[in-house]
Amino acid sequence: MVRVNLIIPKSYFETIKPKFAIEMNGETVTTTVIRSTFTADGAHFVVDVPSDVDPEEFIRVMSSEGAKAFRRALVVVDRDLCIECGECTAECAYEALVLDQDFHLVVNKDNCTGCRACTDACPRHCITVH
Ligand code: SF4
Ligand code: SF4
Repeated sequence: MVRVNLIIPKSYFETIKPKFAIEMNGETVTTTVIRSTFTADGAHFVVDVPSDVDPEEFIRVMSSEGAKAFRRALVVVDRDLCIECGECTAECAYEALVLDQDFHLVVNKDNCTGCRACTDACPRHCITVH
């Protein structure tokens, strides 16, 4: 099972569904929605793709349907080393790393795409992306 992020235009679906299914090579592939967030532009889903489905093919099909699709990664911050300088937040285009109103670092793990832009920016070398 591979966890995938999907950012989908609003017009693509009508209601929130606990399962998210698409046609792939003539077969119906049903994923499990782990999280859904709706914005004015569309929706951000985190889904689990079944282990018998090629995740790269799933991503290709979803991209051809107009969605942004990418594997979910896991960003981990060593809190013992982090000085909450915010350098990483300036590099993260997906709001996986943000500072809250009290300037404390917040990690939104479900948003991480694994781009690793944050790791080089950290002066304390305390970010790991899996
Ligand atoms: S750049 Fe490193 S030290 Fe600074 S807030 Fe981010 S994780 Fe913490
Ligand atoms: S790997 Fe990319 S998406 Fe994930 S936290 Fe770092 S900058 Fe953000």
